Amino acid sequence: MQHHAHPLLSPVPGTQRNLESFHFGPAEAEKRVYIQGSLHADELPGMLVAWTLKQRLKALEEAGQLKAHVIVVPVANPIGLDQQLMDIPLGRYDFESVSNFNRGYRDVTERIAEGLESALTQDAEHNRAEIRRRFIAALDEQPATTAYESLHLTQQRLACDADFILDLHCDFNAVEHLYTTPAAWPDFEPLARYFGAKASMLATDSGGGSFDECFTLVWEQLRERFGDRYPIPYGSQSITLELRGQQDVARDIAERDADAILNWMRYHALIDGEAPPLPALPYPATELAAMDFLRAPAGGVVVFHRTPGEEVKSGDLIAEIIDPISDAVHPVRAEQDGMFYARTQRRMATAGMIVADVAGHHAHRSGYLLAP
Ligand SMILES: [Zn+2]
Repeated sequence: MQHHAHPLLSPVPGTQRNLESFHFGPAEAEKRVYIQGSLHADELPGMLVAWTLKQRLKALEEAGQLKAHVIVVPVANPIGLDQQLMDIPLGRYDFESVSNFNRGYRDVTERIAEGLESALTQDAEHNRAEIRRRFIAALDEQPATTAYESLHLTQQRLACDADFILDLHCDFNAVEHLYTTPAAWPDFEPLARYFGAKASMLATDSGGGSFDECFTLVWEQLRERFGDRYPIPYGSQSITLELRGQQDVARDIAERDADAILNWMRYHALIDGEAPPLPALPYPATELAAMDFLRAPAGGVVVFHRTPGEEVKSGDLIAEIIDPISDAVHPVRAEQDGMFYARTQRRMATAGMIVADVAGHHAHRSGYLLAP
């Protein structure tokens, strides 16, 4: 195992933070895997799973069973991790810029594409290597003017030449679910099975410049631009694994999730040894554009009638919003059949607030598809 500390831009004199990465397996391995936990710093199941993986990868490396080079960043967001206000951790948005830590990653596609055509050939492997080289160079020349940008660029630089990128998150109160792209789904469907994903939502561009998409969209855009004349493979496939809810931090759960990831790596021969048989997928993959955010029609006390992990029918009562002054009781109902997979932790709704997430089958949204 190698340990590297990557200094982030210091926001004020007298402070210094690092992004710490742990590297396992042969440095020149054919395949690379990047795994980070707790980019949203108040989502800690991913940090525990990353730490568990660290211990397991160390043993696999010592046993000579690791075929891929694996980078683990258990604390992906030391800035957000240090944000507390009156005993409440607030790690989703950067205090300074009020930006979501998982939005607005730098898009360097234009820089990579400059003069690229003259370097492309009919050899897909050559093209992949050439684009990766340019991807690294483009990120290296990007200036960071804030700690937030410095964090983003450091993560991007560490992950940009990985074949597989796993970003470990969680929701507020939820069952196992995930987000990835239709192109990556064949690679990650076995992971969805080992993980037991109750909802797997697919989109190529969900509109937010999130970490997972800041890699895949580069390849997607280059394929669109040059793919009719040159073979452009995907250089990276990425997935956002949602490890249930914020309170689901426990050793046994983390061991199960680490097993799922390692078994998926065995399935792809990234680790020696036979992968266990694939379990059934608990629920079919759906389009992210078919997911419904169910919102509170008014402010009031939130009372749930259903629990995440339950399949619901259109019209089913998910929650009630009760106004104790007017006596109004507002029902929040499923808008289509689907899987109710996540809900808010707040029990006082503000008008318009997202109360529940349902993975449906009727794609009806477009543009920006994510939560704030
Ligand atoms: Zn998150």
